Order: sequence, then C-alpha cells, then structure tokens
Amino acid sequence: MRSLERSHQQFQKARSKIPLGVASNFRYWGEEQTIYVARGRGARIWDLDGNEYIDYRLAYGPVILGYADPRVDEAARAGMEIGGVFALATELEYDVASRISKMVPAAELVRFSNSGTEAVMAALRIARAHSGKDGHITVEGGYHGVFNEVLWNVEVEGWSPEDGEPPMLPYCEGVPEVVKSLCHAVPLNDANAAEDLLRKHHREIGAFLIEPIMGNCCGLNATRQYMQDVRELCDRYDVVLIIDEVKTGFRVAKGGVQEILGVTADLCTFAKAIANGYPISVVAGREELMRRVGNGVVHGGTFTGHSVSLAAAKKTLQILDETDALADIARYGTSLQAGLTDILESRGIAHCFVGHPSMSGLFFSEVAPTNYRDWINTNYEFYDAIAPELHELGILVEPDSREPWFMCEAHNMECHNETLDKFERAVDITLRKMPAGFGRAKTA
Ligand code: PMP
Repeated sequence: MRSLERSHQQFQKARSKIPLGVASNFRYWGEEQTIYVARGRGARIWDLDGNEYIDYRLAYGPVILGYADPRVDEAARAGMEIGGVFALATELEYDVASRISKMVPAAELVRFSNSGTEAVMAALRIARAHSGKDGHITVEGGYHGVFNEVLWNVEVEGWSPEDGEPPMLPYCEGVPEVVKSLCHAVPLNDANAAEDLLRKHHREIGAFLIEPIMGNCCGLNATRQYMQDVRELCDRYDVVLIIDEVKTGFRVAKGGVQEILGVTADLCTFAKAIANGYPISVVAGREELMRRVGNGVVHGGTFTGHSVSLAAAKKTLQILDETDALADIARYGTSLQAGLTDILESRGIAHCFVGHPSMSGLFFSEVAPTNYRDWINTNYEFYDAIAPELHELGILVEPDSREPWFMCEAHNMECHNETLDKFERAVDITLRKMPAGFGRAKTA
C-alpha cells in the first residue's frame, strides 16, 4: 500500500483554514485519499509522500505539452520581466490573438479572460446581446463552469426512461431558482429533440451552448451530422451557436473540435491548453458578434491579459501550430487504447472508448454511449473499482468515469509500457476482489 501520511497531515492542517482543505471541490477525494502534490515534471507528478504517478488527469486538460515544459516556462519568465498587469494592454495580446485566428477560422476576433468560466459567461452575454433573447440551450451532462446560468443539469443517476424526462436540477445549493427559466437542456445527438424545443421556445432562446466532445461527460462525441443539424437549426431560429472548446481547443486538433467536425461556431471559448497550464482563457468568434464587445457589451477584468500567461500562450500555441505535437499526442492515445483493449479483451471484458485519442473516456459496455442517458447503462461501477487500484500502483486517472483520460506530449513509450503493465495488474486485482461477473458489461 502506498503511504499518504504526509498528504493526510497536510489535509488536516489545510481543512482548518480552507473548506475541504482544497481550492476546488473536485480535488477533495475523501478524508483519507486527498492528495497534495509536491511537484510535476513532464507526464509525471509526485505527491508529498514521494509517491510517483503517471498523470492522465493533467489538471483536467491544460497540460498539453507536459508539466514544467522548459520552452514554455522560459517564455513565461520573459513575460514576468514585462511586469504582469497594468490596466493597460501590451503587444503580446495581438500576437496571441492573431495566432488563435490563424489556427481557428471561427475566431475572427478574440478577447482574453482568465478562466473557462469567465469566457463562457462572456460568450453567453454577447449571444444575448446579439440575439436579444435571454434563454439558452445546453446539452445534458455538459459542464461549462461555475456560474448560475450553466449550473443546471438533468439528473440521470437513479432515473429510468419509464419515468419520463429526467429532471433538471441545480448543480448545487445557492444557484437561484429564478435563473432556471433561462435554461433548457437537450440530449446529445438527438436533432429532433433540439428541433422540438426550438420550435416551441425559439422566441426566448438566444444561444445553443455545446461542447461537441463532452470533456466533462466521458468524452461523448457529437456526430458530424448532429453538428450540421444544430448549425442549421441555429441559423433557422436566429440562435447563436457557442462551441465550448475549453477542453478540446488546441488539443484535439490545431483548429479544435470545429476542424474535426467541420462546423463553424458563431462564438467559441478556449482555456485549458492555450498556455500549457498558465491561467488564460478566450472568447472568440464572428466579427459581427464580437464587435458588440465595447459597443454595448462589457468585458474586462483586472487580471485579463497578464503578461506571464500571454507569453506562455504565445509559446505554447507556436509549438502546437508549428510542430507535430498534437498528432504525436493523438498517436500515443491511440496506441494506449490498443494496449488497454488487448488486456481487457483477453479477460473477456467488454469495453469501448469515446472522445478523441488525446482525451478519451473508457466505458465498460458493449456499445459506446451516444448521450448522457446511455451512460447509466455502462458498468461504471467497474471503472469506479479500478480507478483506486490504478492510483495505488501510480497511474493517476480521475476516480469518476465521466472524466476522460488526458494525454500530453511528454507521455512517452516508457509511460506507455508502464501504464499498460500497471493497468493489467489493476484489472486483475479488481477482478479478484469483486463478485464473479462484476467486470462484465451491463447488457441493457
Ligand atoms: N467549459 C468546459 C467545457 C470546461 O471543461 C470547463 C472546466 N472544466 C469550463 C468551461 C470552466 O473552466 P474553468 O474551470 O477554467 O472556469
């Protein structure tokens, strides 16, 4: 058993001053299991007890090249020399904005923020201003940050189709009920459901907010056809199409998921991989909409356009645009999936992958889920049982099966082989501990 003694001591200390002892609820893994990091390098991190992990969480996606990448950190240090924030602009903003426009055709104009939440808030505000309509649609199971208009979701755990439509509930306490009337949710890949909703409510709905590879919902993929249909519905009903590329942007392709699915958003948001982990986000889009910023729509923030984040972004995007890094990352992911498949197939365990090789969900089911409602038919209990065994062995994946595994440029063949070796052990340990048949896919 790995020791988490020092992490545990840190947790006891931290929780006296910090709720749950962490800076984000998702980092709390329980009284005994919450990990505190000493450092990260490349694709690995070390905790306070010296346990080493190959990391497939990568901070939920930002780390696209690897931790402490020397090329990016050197650029960030130069950015520090500029001086930080001034409540005035620097030359770096144009440099980064033009690189983004070059890589993502939909990003005709670009504005910077600090977090994904801020970027999505800005996109919704611009969309409301443009359409003159306050309501919006999201996709069931989606996550777009910590603000009231997106903290609503359908509850599918404990729900079955005979119950009718799954209930839409606030994500947490403190989300005002009054916001609910603005929020509508549709199942992924069901264009008829979206059309029905718009036919009835298009006078109130100004935005369709979608993450076509659902980075917070197992990596579920929107089909090309669905995105075409959504684009067409948005045009027909005068709805702004916002593609949230906070996770997929500068990860799944140079031009993001829009390039892969051949769809062009009116507005799109980016954050995680832009600067290899330095805090920066982007709202971007069609000139006509983006010119509303500063012309009716407020956008800003004390820390926007920080010289360290911009310098890191400039370097990271240059690497992603001018090298084969993203293709290499995808190749690593594909090869890892093949290895995992060999291990699982040889034990008769049905499984499938969804998403993209650089951010993919692993499901224990015969058929890949196509929307969040399908997820309940996967054997997620088996995933939940394997994840802690992987942690014990030094492979860090998210304990919740709804979070995909992330790959970065620093994952190399050594990581690959070590991961497969440890995955095989984790599967066997799990099978031994569980009742017979536990690893089998649900058949429903
Ligand atoms: N949109 C998506 C698709 C995300 O994955 C996230 C974060 N996981 C956000 C928005 C919010 O970003 P942040 O945590 O930086 O506020």
